[in-house]
Amino acid sequence: RSPGRVRLQVSGLTKRFGGVVAVGDVDLVLHDSEILGVIGPNGAGKSTLINLLSGVLTPTEGRIEFDGEDVTRAPAHKVAAKGLARTFQTPVVFGGMSVLETVLVGTYTVGRAGIARSVIPTPGVLREERQLREAAEAALARCGLAHLADVEADQLSLGHQKVLEIARGLAGRPAVLLLDEPAAGLNRAEKQRMAALLRELRAEGIALLLVEHDMEMVMELVDRVHVLEFGKTLRVGTPDEVRSDPEVIRAYLGV
Ligand code: ADP
Ligand code: MG
Repeated sequence: RSPGRVRLQVSGLTKRFGGVVAVGDVDLVLHDSEILGVIGPNGAGKSTLINLLSGVLTPTEGRIEFDGEDVTRAPAHKVAAKGLARTFQTPVVFGGMSVLETVLVGTYTVGRAGIARSVIPTPGVLREERQLREAAEAALARCGLAHLADVEADQLSLGHQKVLEIARGLAGRPAVLLLDEPAAGLNRAEKQRMAALLRELRAEGIALLLVEHDMEMVMELVDRVHVLEFGKTLRVGTPDEVRSDPEVIRAYLGV
């Protein structure tokens, strides 16, 4: 498998919380049509890394380039508008919202209708709302959730909620998708369906960064693995290289 063009380039990325170095001097490159696994023990900085890349947090030091453009200090909505989507470790669903409405929230990053909507909508706003709705429906269909569009999102099983997170990300037609433990809490069959979906997204050219605890899933799915320990890069390599690395084994087994 050969990766596509460089989509995301990160150098010297550092985030300190007081005295804690959550992410320390991390370099990474993410290409189109690849899945980069990010692994590491609890507290290694994986979620902080996703928060930095998605503009939720501002780095203490370092640089983030998206399509060659400096987005180091760009806020989350700007980064999203450029084509970067992310999911959350714990699915974000709001009571009273249907599955389709939950995905529509993900499309407001690309459209203006969400903010432009007024009491008497203009034809342009109505047209845009229809387009956003179509994008949301397409994302649901893409993820196999079309039949659940009108169900209340908080009534879904955890397995479906985790897929819904991805559908919401896809609704904005992103080039990059950052996934924070998409398989956590899923049973074996749900994990296999999740892995199949991620493979399909890779085949469609999306650049995927996958934070995941399930080592079996990571090792059979990803192209490269980035191992973090205490915020620092311990090793970057193919699944085979990383699996057999004494330092990685030590970090995981604590020996
Ligand atoms: P992981 O996702 O790999 O389990 P995190 O990125 O959540 O790790 O956390 C990395 C480190 O940063 C931990 O020591 C954690 O306690 C700390 N940390 C994360 N977020 C904050 C925050 N908002 N304020 C202070 N410390 C934080
Ligand atoms: Mg985490």
